[in-house]
Amino acid sequence: MALYCANWRKSIKTTDSVTLQNRDSNLTTVAHSPFSASSPQPAEHWSILGAGAAGLSVGYFAAKHGMGLTLFEAGSEVGGSARTIRSGEFFFDTGAHRFHDKDPEVTHEMKGLLGGDLLEANAPSQIVCGRRRIDFPLSPLNLLTTLGPLAVAEAAWDLLRARLAPARTFETFADLAVSRYGYSIAKTFLLDYSAKLWGVPPEELGSSVSGQRLKGLNLRTFFLETMRGRRAKTEHLDGGFYYPRYGIGQLMDALAQACGQKNIRTRSRLTRVFHSDGRITHIQINDREKLAVSRVISSLPLNVFLQSLDPPPPPEILDMSRSLNFRHIVLVALFLNRPQVSANASLYFPEPDVPFTRAYEPKHRSPAMSPSRQTSLVIEIPCGANDSVWQADRDSLVQMVTRRLIEMNLIQEKEILSAETHFLPYAYPVLDLNSAATAQKLLNYLTGFSNLKLAGRCALFRYVSIHDVIRDSRLLVEELMEAVKLAALN
Ligand SMILES: Cc1cc2nc3c(=O)[nH]c(=O)nc-3n(C[C@H](O)[C@H](O)[C@H](O)COP(=O)(O)OP(=O)(O)OC[C@H]3O[C@@H](n4cnc5c(N)ncnc54)[C@H](O)[C@@H]3O)c2cc1C
Repeated sequence: MALYCANWRKSIKTTDSVTLQNRDSNLTTVAHSPFSASSPQPAEHWSILGAGAAGLSVGYFAAKHGMGLTLFEAGSEVGGSARTIRSGEFFFDTGAHRFHDKDPEVTHEMKGLLGGDLLEANAPSQIVCGRRRIDFPLSPLNLLTTLGPLAVAEAAWDLLRARLAPARTFETFADLAVSRYGYSIAKTFLLDYSAKLWGVPPEELGSSVSGQRLKGLNLRTFFLETMRGRRAKTEHLDGGFYYPRYGIGQLMDALAQACGQKNIRTRSRLTRVFHSDGRITHIQINDREKLAVSRVISSLPLNVFLQSLDPPPPPEILDMSRSLNFRHIVLVALFLNRPQVSANASLYFPEPDVPFTRAYEPKHRSPAMSPSRQTSLVIEIPCGANDSVWQADRDSLVQMVTRRLIEMNLIQEKEILSAETHFLPYAYPVLDLNSAATAQKLLNYLTGFSNLKLAGRCALFRYVSIHDVIRDSRLLVEELMEAVKLAALN
């Protein structure tokens, strides 16, 4: 595994996505999973639907326990939302990814998998408002220097009022953001941004969409930092994270390698799920191949799975599944003939009239992502399936993005070497106020199938990160292994 990782970049032959298919033949002919090579006949065979972070992690832990497995992936590559794409000498991820060190066991496991290729990265982020750049997560001292004392005094007053309000639980993202930051800061930096990102007013978003974004700033740190300066800089300014040397896709490919390449079927779209007496009996792939299954783990979007059931679920379940909303992302990658655009890992754009939410510079995650004297900037445009931007062609997207970046003085036209677009469906489940209850009803309905489990972000309709997905996959496999052991005893 270590040799494979060390040779990872050299092994890439094509200019397309970085995938299992693109590796040297001596690396792709791994006949068996490294875990199961000496195992006896597996006790069970698991059919895992989708080969994103969740499907691959379930496969990884299942292989470790010696289970038989097949992963069915609709796309031509593994990794789902967490892939790395190659364009010439440049690499960029499908969305600005970082590996968070939140679960020591998961971090330890992934360090073991990637060896020295899981790098520690430390790069800050900033918010771009007009020509102003503000540190993110927000820092009072930085706000003072960029916005001026009057605006900060107003923000501090707002914050004080918000924090003195009686304690309560916050149902909406807007309530949570205003209580944490006060109205003026929340409005300028968070509420408009969230409306763009999710396509829903922040008053209609559940508080769980905040993820870790709202942690850190409180009254104590606000005043401490303002009085004592950078020495008092607190946890929320920490820009540290882990990152695979050749992009987040390297982690996905390492998981895939551990699953055993022969166990992964790409270009295999699940089209129907047959069931009888509370059990999934067969799955249909690509509208033609019908396969018997014993245990199924689905990481497909919840609505996609429900709408594939045959016989179909009750009409109210189908209607609810159609009401679930997912956000897509259009990526525009610009390859630039300059050493860097900024020193930041990401730049955030909260202003409503800017069509994108975030731009990231891959080389600030790992220097291997760009040639040393050149850089790339990848812009994220969140949208819905019916938005014009999701239907737009490459040239108009590139033109729209470059025009705005030039106006903001971030890049110059003459620096652009080339550009690419990439379309990422099902990037985020939209956690509005109704969807949590709806998703829970749908998940409850699916618990009626005794040999079915769900894993991952869009399958469980939760706003989770990769380390969450890996941890939950490990727990799921451990739970299933208990059932396998019990069955063996009976
Ligand atoms: C822009 C962006 C930035 C992010 N940044 C971070 C970050 O910094 N750190 C972090 O930890 N996480 C981050 N995440 C979240 C992380 O990418 C996800 O949590 C994770 O990738 C979810 O994996 P998954 O397997 O649940 O879903 P997916 O990756 O969506 O995988 C589902 C798979 O199912 C396949 N599929 C769909 N339909 C079918 C079908 N009918 N038949 C067969 N296969 C099918 C899809 O092709 C896909 O491969 C980010 C996500 C996005 C979108």
